[in-house]
Amino acid sequence: MGVLNDVPAGSVSLDSVLCTEELKRRPKRSPDYQAENQALRALAKGLTNSPEHVLQELVDLALTLCRGHSAGVSLLEQSDPGNVTAAGDHFRWHAVAGRWAPLVWNTTTPRNHGPCGTVLDCNATLLICNAHRYFTQFEDVLPRLVEGLLVPFHIGERAVGTVWVVAHDTTRQFDGEDQRLLESLATFAATAYQAGLLASAREKTNRELKAEIVERQRAEAALREADHRKDEFLAMLAHELRNPLNPIGNAVQVLRLTKGMDETVRSACEVIERQLGQIVVFVDDLFEVSRVSRGTVRLREGTIELASPVHHAVEAARSLFEGRQQELTVELPPQPIFMNADPARLAQVVGNLLTNACKFTDKGGRIWLTVEREGEQAVIRVRDSGIGIAADHLSHIFEMFVQVDRSMERSTSGLGVGLTLVKSLVEMHGGTVEARSAGIGRGSEFVVRLPNLRETPKPQPSSAVSEPTSKTPHRILVVDDHQDSAQTLATLLQMDGHETHTAYDGFEAVQAAKALRPDVILLDLGLPRLSGYEVARRIREQPWGNGTVLVALTGWGEDEDHYRSTEAGFNGHLVKPVNHTALTRLMANAVVATCGPAALS
Ligand code: ADP
Repeated sequence: MGVLNDVPAGSVSLDSVLCTEELKRRPKRSPDYQAENQALRALAKGLTNSPEHVLQELVDLALTLCRGHSAGVSLLEQSDPGNVTAAGDHFRWHAVAGRWAPLVWNTTTPRNHGPCGTVLDCNATLLICNAHRYFTQFEDVLPRLVEGLLVPFHIGERAVGTVWVVAHDTTRQFDGEDQRLLESLATFAATAYQAGLLASAREKTNRELKAEIVERQRAEAALREADHRKDEFLAMLAHELRNPLNPIGNAVQVLRLTKGMDETVRSACEVIERQLGQIVVFVDDLFEVSRVSRGTVRLREGTIELASPVHHAVEAARSLFEGRQQELTVELPPQPIFMNADPARLAQVVGNLLTNACKFTDKGGRIWLTVEREGEQAVIRVRDSGIGIAADHLSHIFEMFVQVDRSMERSTSGLGVGLTLVKSLVEMHGGTVEARSAGIGRGSEFVVRLPNLRETPKPQPSSAVSEPTSKTPHRILVVDDHQDSAQTLATLLQMDGHETHTAYDGFEAVQAAKALRPDVILLDLGLPRLSGYEVARRIREQPWGNGTVLVALTGWGEDEDHYRSTEAGFNGHLVKPVNHTALTRLMANAVVATCGPAALS
């Protein structure tokens, strides 16, 4: 028997209320196996119920089978689960049946203040008589506990509570058969209770997992939404930046074409032009990357010879290498490689890699560009003797806005989107791109692998026609709500010898067109009052309207935008800031197509 130091002992000793030996002395009644089997079946059925239900069924059955006046289950609540008999532990009645059922039983009793604690100390079945004589708190509990049979309730090896039946008067005396029954019920119920606890824990885990999945899905959707908004924002930003760039570009052109300009102003113009070109590259990169992210880039694929876009890229980058006194070595395969690809996009890929090689290699360094065939793939390698890339950065540099060292002076000349574009464009062609470097200071190599190789195509009859470049004077109406844009472009065209007029909204544009009957209308699409599309439609409705060349000038340059303007009856579509040479060429071509070659004479 454990010594219960802090028990509020009554008038007698603990031993005097423990009468377990009586169980052996009393004659055993004969077992009622039928009733017992029924009881166990009922408990077994209840296995799918909650743990608390199982306990209630247990005490109902214990009450009936042991013919007690009350029955119950008390479970231990531990204040310190590591300590078996901590002072703060309490018992709580989890189920009760019989005469004590109406008592306020969902309260707790300190572990060492009642017979349940004694049962746990002994870890054995006990018969307790007139408990109130030792356990003083039972003095007020009515009807009295005259005799109580208490069995430890085990979960695994651990006794965690007791199952008990109580007689409130002497008409009922428990015997060895009641002990056997109650112990058997307690063992069975403990298993059921444990299974229930596990099931509830599983259910809880499942619930928590489901909640976590929902939460993750919500977070992913929010991220996707934020990403989408970022792409939209980048597209809008790039578009809005193009508007002010347009008049700046025009104004610089005007200054450069002004005769008798002094040398200081000329060199200032060159600075503006160079820096403007740099901003235009940034804006275009931003726009491109947002288009790639939104999946709006379409490849214009056809059978091409790979050397052709590679040459274009090299030519475009050559001045950069010269500027830094770097030596570029280009090696092409002896046999041409034909493939299905978008030449402009491949030139962009090679151009980006060459530009990076130039940027990240010191003056006087070396760059090698090789193109070769490896089995079914074309392989483009751009290698440099530059600053190299640390191994832990190699896998990240293709991510958007990643720059290995932002503190470097040279990294300010980019946004960290070039390689993202390269990767996306290469993957759109079904290829791969990989970065290699032996480490910092040991150069870098970018390897692009492209599939879709083709057999040598049959020669096509040449359809080349000489480009009309004449600068025949035309009457031109420039329409843009951005007044600086309209005026600078008009001035520039005047310097080319054209007669120019301006209008600043859609309605004014239609009126001016009716009055002037211009040969060419350069029309912004996002106009107040009437959109550029509507202006085009109204002009095309006029009897003279089909003889006018309509060119859309806009910040929007995606394939759908080109398609929409063609649908609306435009003869051409140029993206701001407008390249003067491209505009002159487009106007000349469109005038020929609309009015015939005589229009240029
Ligand atoms: P940007 O050139 O605008 O910084 P990129 O996406 O083209 O953006 O490149 C991302 C980063 O990858 C660069 O900032 C640089 O740190 C690294 N990088 C790219 N090319 C090279 C190279 N040839 N040598 C060393 N580092 C490079």
